[in-house]
Amino acid sequence: MNTRTIEFVAPRELEIREVHLPPLEPRQVLLKTKGCALCTWEQRFYKGGSPDDYPFRGGHEVSAVVEELGPDCTVDVRVGDLVAPALKTRCGSCYYCRRGLDNQCENDPEPRQAGEPWGPGGLSDYLIVEDYQVYRAGPGVDPDHLALAEPVACVIRSVTRPGLFPGDRVLVQGAGMMGQLHILLAKKMGFRVLVSEPMPVRRDQALKSGAEVVLDPTDNHFREAVLDETGGYGLNAVFFTAGGGPAIIQALEVMAKGGWLCLYGSVHPSGEVGVDPNHVHYDELFVTGTFSHTRESYREAVELISQGQVDVSPFITERVPFPKVDHGFERAISPDTYRVLMTFGQEH
Ligand SMILES: [Zn+2]
Ligand SMILES: [Zn+2]
Repeated sequence: MNTRTIEFVAPRELEIREVHLPPLEPRQVLLKTKGCALCTWEQRFYKGGSPDDYPFRGGHEVSAVVEELGPDCTVDVRVGDLVAPALKTRCGSCYYCRRGLDNQCENDPEPRQAGEPWGPGGLSDYLIVEDYQVYRAGPGVDPDHLALAEPVACVIRSVTRPGLFPGDRVLVQGAGMMGQLHILLAKKMGFRVLVSEPMPVRRDQALKSGAEVVLDPTDNHFREAVLDETGGYGLNAVFFTAGGGPAIIQALEVMAKGGWLCLYGSVHPSGEVGVDPNHVHYDELFVTGTFSHTRESYREAVELISQGQVDVSPFITERVPFPKVDHGFERAISPDTYRVLMTFGQEH
């Protein structure tokens, strides 16, 4: 059979391709896509990556229905089930997979070849995945919400990484999509949540998401305000999701002793940030990063969404029918959207 897929061929240039899907091999699953959210990662390729990024097939925040099961599948799903596929592959046997860091798996099954398309390919009508990549949703789950299992899984990994205790005080830097999800998950963990965000409209949403305190990082009294709100101690953890190097320096100025600086976001362009080693030494600080999701954090994300424990609906700003993906990306890169969702099967 064939499927349509979106190929990024150059900055702001997307093409619809007809791609042949081979018959299923053992332990493979054919999925019919329901929704695919347009993540910041794909937005970077849309706005303009480096020339060797193309051709690229994006889309990794996906919900889908099981269309067909190949032979010998061991995952507990049936044809017709609503699932969230984790489009990251994991071999299960490399050093990092065995060390509990399967998000860092060393074995990509299809190494990239120059000029050949690469990428997760979730912006397609149909997808073939390995059975271990499929997570079944609970009954009655909205497929639009389930498409956000991937970012929720990444954020679960972030908020569970530092050694924190209920009632600890944390700051979320940036209240875009990933910042908002950090607020939701940090509340679930029992933390007092402060947020720093320059845009008033995002600060308002941060309060609706459950933040106790919202601050403007450009305010001259930012540090005093944080100390006021934390009994004079500062923060037990800062989750950096946006703001670049200046935000990271600002975070280091408001850490409590024994605090964790957690770099969830990446910084573009990359660069160096000055850190005084004696500050880290005397104050016993931890500096860590998190990248992507593990199979465990993915399972937890699908459980939380299935149980209605996290409500991601405020962050689906707009739904755009596939394949109007140019319009979708123009909306996705606009600062007034959190996530734009491509919906499938509703063109007519
Ligand atoms: Zn994503
Ligand atoms: Zn591996």
